[in-house]
Amino acid sequence: MSGFDLFQAEEAALARAVAMHARNGEDSAAYRAELGELIARYTRLMREMRRLIRHSDRQERELSELNASLRRLAEQLDHKARHDALTGELNRAAVIDLVSQHLQRGPLSLVVLDIDHFKRINDSYGHPAGDAVIVELVRRLRSALRAEVQLGRVGGEEFTVVLPSLDLDVAGMLAERMRAAIAAAPFAGAGAVTASFGVSWNSAGSDFDHAYARADAALYEAKRAGRNRVVLADVDA
Ligand code: GH3
Ligand code: MG
Ligand code: MG
Repeated sequence: MSGFDLFQAEEAALARAVAMHARNGEDSAAYRAELGELIARYTRLMREMRRLIRHSDRQERELSELNASLRRLAEQLDHKARHDALTGELNRAAVIDLVSQHLQRGPLSLVVLDIDHFKRINDSYGHPAGDAVIVELVRRLRSALRAEVQLGRVGGEEFTVVLPSLDLDVAGMLAERMRAAIAAAPFAGAGAVTASFGVSWNSAGSDFDHAYARADAALYEAKRAGRNRVVLADVDA
C-alpha cells in the first residue's frame, strides 16, 4: 500500500465521530461540532468521488476511441498491403495467398491474362494513358465476372482471375467472355486494346507455382498463336 491516503481527513473525522458516539454525557455543542466536521468531510468525499468517476469515464472513452482508430489503421494497412494502388484489386502476394489456401481445400481454375503489345500503347500514347488502359481493362474484366470473383494484378500488365472449384471448360468460357469485353470497343485515348489468356485447371493439393506456370504456358501459346485469344492448358495427369 502507498503511504498517501486520499481520504485521510475523512478517516480522522469518522474516527472522532465514532469515538464521540461511544461516549455518554457529551454536551450538544461538541456533538454538533463533530457532526459539522463529518458533514464537511462527507461532502468533500462525494465531490472527490464524482471527480474521479468523471475522470475515469473520460479516460475510458479516450482509450476506446484510440482503440477504434488503431483498429481502423490496422485494417487500412492490411488492405494496402494486399491491394494494388492503381486498380484496387488484389496484388501479387495476396493472389498467391488466396490461390494457395484454395488449393489446400479443393480444385481451382486459374486464368492468367496479359495485355497485347502494351509497350506500343505506352510508346504511342504515353505512360499515363497506359495506366488508364489498365484501369479500364480491369473495369471490363469486372463487367464480365460475378461480383464475388476475386482477381489480382500480378504484374505490370498481367492479371489473374481465381476461380475455385470451377471446371476448365467453364473457366475457359469466362475467359472468353473477358477477352470479348476487352476487344469489343476501343479504349478512350488508346484505341483498340486486346489481351491474351491462359487457363489452367488444378487438382486439390497442387501449389500456386504449378498452377500459375501451367496457365502462363497456355498464355504464351495464345501469344504465339496470334494474341487476342484464350488457350486452355491440358488437364494435369
Ligand atoms: P506482348 O503482347 O508480348 O505481351 O507485348 P507487350 O508489349 O505487352 O509485352 P512486354 O511484357 O514486353 O511489355 C510490357 C510493358 O508494360 C513494359 C512496361 O513498360 C509496361 N508496363 C508495365 N507495368 C506498367 C504500368 O504499371 N503502367 C504502364 N503504363 N506500363 C506498364
Ligand atoms: Mg507482360
Ligand atoms: Mg503484354
